[in-house]
Amino acid sequence: MAKPRESALKGELKNDLKQSLDHGSKPKADHALEEPCEDCDSLDVSFERHLRYDLSREQSQSGELFNAMARSVKEQMFDLWRKTRLADSQYETKKVSYLSLEFLLGRTLGNALLNLDLTEQCKQALKPHAVSLEELESHEHDAGLGNGGLGRLAACFLDSCASIDLAVTGYGIRYQYGMFVQKMDNGYQVEGPDLWLRDGNPWEVRMVNRIVSVPFFGSTKSYIDKDGKRNFVWQGTQDVLAVPYDMPIAGYRNGRVNTLRLWRAEASDDFDLTEFNEGDYTEAVARKNLAEQITMVLYPNDSSENGKELRLRQQFFLSSASLQDVLNQYTAKHGKDFSQFSSKHVFQLNDTHPSIAIPELMRLLLDVHGLDWDKAWDITRSVMAYTNHTLLPEALERWPVRMLQHMLPRILDIIYEINGRYLERVAHRWPGDANKLRAMSIIEEGDEPQVRMAYLAIVGSFSVNGVAALHSQLLTSTLFNDFYQMWPQLFNNKTNGVSPRRWLMHANPDLSTLITKAIGTSWQRDLTQLTSLNGLTQDKAFIKQWQQVKFDNKAKLAALVAQECEVEFDLSMLFDVQVKRIHEYKRQLLNLLHVVHLYGRILDGDVKDMVPRCVLMGGKAAPGYAMAKLIIKFANNLAHMINSDPRVKPYLRMAYLPNYNVSAMEVICPGTELSEQISTAGKEASGTGNMKFMMNGALTIGTLDGANIEIREQVGPDNFFLFGLSAEQVAQANDTQENQIFSPALLKVIALLKSGHFNLVEPGIFDPIIAAIEAPKDQWRLAADFDSYCQAQLQVANTYLDKETWQQMSIRNTAASGRFSSDVTIGQYRDDIWMAKKTANNNR
Ligand SMILES: *Cc1c(COP(=O)(O)O)cnc(C)c1O
Repeated sequence: MAKPRESALKGELKNDLKQSLDHGSKPKADHALEEPCEDCDSLDVSFERHLRYDLSREQSQSGELFNAMARSVKEQMFDLWRKTRLADSQYETKKVSYLSLEFLLGRTLGNALLNLDLTEQCKQALKPHAVSLEELESHEHDAGLGNGGLGRLAACFLDSCASIDLAVTGYGIRYQYGMFVQKMDNGYQVEGPDLWLRDGNPWEVRMVNRIVSVPFFGSTKSYIDKDGKRNFVWQGTQDVLAVPYDMPIAGYRNGRVNTLRLWRAEASDDFDLTEFNEGDYTEAVARKNLAEQITMVLYPNDSSENGKELRLRQQFFLSSASLQDVLNQYTAKHGKDFSQFSSKHVFQLNDTHPSIAIPELMRLLLDVHGLDWDKAWDITRSVMAYTNHTLLPEALERWPVRMLQHMLPRILDIIYEINGRYLERVAHRWPGDANKLRAMSIIEEGDEPQVRMAYLAIVGSFSVNGVAALHSQLLTSTLFNDFYQMWPQLFNNKTNGVSPRRWLMHANPDLSTLITKAIGTSWQRDLTQLTSLNGLTQDKAFIKQWQQVKFDNKAKLAALVAQECEVEFDLSMLFDVQVKRIHEYKRQLLNLLHVVHLYGRILDGDVKDMVPRCVLMGGKAAPGYAMAKLIIKFANNLAHMINSDPRVKPYLRMAYLPNYNVSAMEVICPGTELSEQISTAGKEASGTGNMKFMMNGALTIGTLDGANIEIREQVGPDNFFLFGLSAEQVAQANDTQENQIFSPALLKVIALLKSGHFNLVEPGIFDPIIAAIEAPKDQWRLAADFDSYCQAQLQVANTYLDKETWQQMSIRNTAASGRFSSDVTIGQYRDDIWMAKKTANNNR
C-alpha cells in the first residue's frame, strides 16, 4: 500500500527523542498497531530506488534484485528499530543480553517479510521484474554462524524474544567464514570455505559509534592507592578493536525490532602507530592481520571442545566487547551508581563458551569502575545465568592455566580469587574433605593445570539450566551433583523450543494455510492452540487435504534430492529422514545398520509385506572427527549400492544430502514422514530437529532421550515409535557390561559388512565401523538397541500401510507441538530467570 511521504510520525519520533531526554517520561510502549514504516517509501518505491542507485549493472540479475529487496526491507524496519532502541534505553524493563559464540540464522528475507507482514507487498514489487519471491530468496547466502542445534537455538530464541516483546540483544561474532561448505568426493566429506559475505550482507549496519577496545597479553601489577586500597593494573596489553555490526530482528507483527550485535575484530590505530613510527610499516600491516584473525572463522566442532588458543581469544573478545557495550549503556543512564545494575541487566550464557564473561565483568567493575570485591561479586552473581548443553565429557571446556596466564593474566588473577573464596564455602560445607575440594575446584590440578569453565560458570551464576527435563535431571544427579547439594536453588530446566514462524509458517506455507482454514488464526500467536486440530482427526475431507499438503511437500523434497544427489525418490514411498550433525552418540550408524538389514532382506527375496521407503541422511562431520567422516563415507557407499541395483529399487532408495544447513532443513522437515531421533539414551541434551519435524506432521521413531521424552508425553505413546534402552539402563550397562549378544539379524548385517560388499574397491576401509559395532564396551549401545529398533521400524511400516491412520497420527503430532514453540520456552526464561525476583542472601 502506498504511504504519504511526509506523515505526522516524523514529528512524533522527534517527540519520542525529546521525551527520552526528559527524565522519567515513558515513550509509547505499544507499537502493536503501527505500520512497519509510516513515513518512508513503500516497499516497491524503495525497491526501485535501490535497484536504480545501488547497483552497477543496467540489466539487474536476480542476485542484485535480492540485494535491493533486502535493503528495502531493512529500510522498512529502520523506524521501528530506532524506536525500540530508544524505548529500551529508558530502562522501563530489564535488558537481557544473550551471549553466544554461535547464531545459526540461515536466510533472513523470508522470515523478515513474514514477521513484518510484507510478503504480499514484496510479491507485488517483484511483478515488473518477472522473478518470483522464491527465486529471489534462493540468492541469499545462509548466515551459517553456528554448528548445529546450539547455534540454531540462539537464532530461534532471538525470533521469539522479539515476538513476545522482550528487550533482548543477541551478542555474537561476525565470522568472516561461517560453517564450512560440505561437498562430497567419492563419498568422502570435503570441506570448503563458506564465503557468505562475498556479495556483502545487506542486513547489517556497521556501528562505528559503538566501537570498544579489548585487551590481550601484557602483565598485571598491583599497587596500594592513597586510601590504602589495593588496586590492579593490567599493563602492556595489545588491544584489539571490537566493531559491532548490527542485524535487525523483527518481532512477529508487534512493532518490536531487536538487535543482533555481531563483533568484528580490527587492529587498533595506536597499536599500529608505534611500529609505523619505527619505520616497520609492513610489520604493522601484518599485525593488523593478526588482530583481524580473531573473527576470521567459526570453529567447526559440535559437542566437543577445541583447546585452540584462537578459540579462547574469540571467547574473551566476544565477552569483553559485549560487557563493555552494556556497561556503556548503563553508565550513560545511571552514571557510576551500580546499585541498580542487577535489576536492569541480565546475561544468558549459551553454554560455557562465553563464561569468561564472569571474571571479565569482575575486572571491569573492579579495575575500570572502582567497585570493591564484595560489591562486584554480588552484582556478577546476580546477573549471570548459564545454560548447559551437554553431558558428554569430551565437550566440557577446560583452558590451560598457562594459556590464560599468557593471554589474559588479569583474568587469571580474578579466577584464582573467585576460586579461593568459593573453596572456603566448600570447606565449610564439607569440613576436612580434601577430595571434595579437589573435585570441586575451578582449577583442575595436574601436570598441566586447567580452568574448568563449567564450574566457573556455575559458581558465578544465579541460574544453571539444562535444556530438556531428562537432561536437567541428569545434570543435578551426576555431572553437577556436588554443586546441586550445595546450591539446589540454582538449578532449573528450560526445555528447548523452535520458532513456529520459521519452522512452520515460513517453511510450510501450505500446511499453515490449511491449519488456518481449519481452526482460524489464533495459533499464529499462540502455538498451543494447535490442539484444536485434534477435533479434526475424524474429518475425512480434512485428512485428505492434510495428506495432499504432505504429498506436495514430499515432491519439493524429492526435487531437492534429485538436484543435489541425483537420486530419484518415489513419492508413493515412506520418506524416512535423519539429518543432524554426524556424531557417534546420535547413532547414524544404527540407522545405516537397519538400511543394510533391509537391503539384505531384499537381496534374499524376503520382501513380503515390505513397505517401500526412501531413506535420506544428511549432516556435517567435524573435520577432525575421523569416525564421523567414515560414517558419511559408509552412508554414501551404501546409497550407491542400493540405488544402482534394479532389484532393490522398488523397495528401497537412499540419498546422502550434502551441505545440510538451515535452508535445506526448511525444505526437508515439511516433506518428512518419519523423523529419526535415535541417540543413545542419556546422551542427547534435548534435540530441536525432533521438534521441527513434529511440528510439520512427521512421526518420530526415537529413544527415551532429550526432548523425545516430552514429545512422546505430549502426543501420547500411541503416536510415537519408541525403542531402545532407557538412560538408566545405558548407565547400568556401562558399569557392568558383559559380552554383547548379537541377534541373528545383526550377525547377518555384520557378515555383509565383513564381506566387503560395500567397499569392493577400497578393502578394509570400514573395519573401524565393524570394530565399533562389535566392541564389547560399545558405549553407544548399537548392538543392544538393534533388534528393538528393527521391531519399531516394522511397526512404522505396518502403520504406514494404513494411510488414514498415518495421517491421523500426523495431525496429532502437529496438534501436540505447540509446547515446543520457542515462544513458550522464552516465556519461561523470562518468568523464572530473567525477570525473577531473586531471594536475598543465598549463602554464597
Ligand atoms: C535444527 C537444526 C539442527 C539441530 O538438529 P538436532 O537433530 O537437534 O541435532 C542442526 N542443524 C540445523 C541446520 C538445524 O536446522
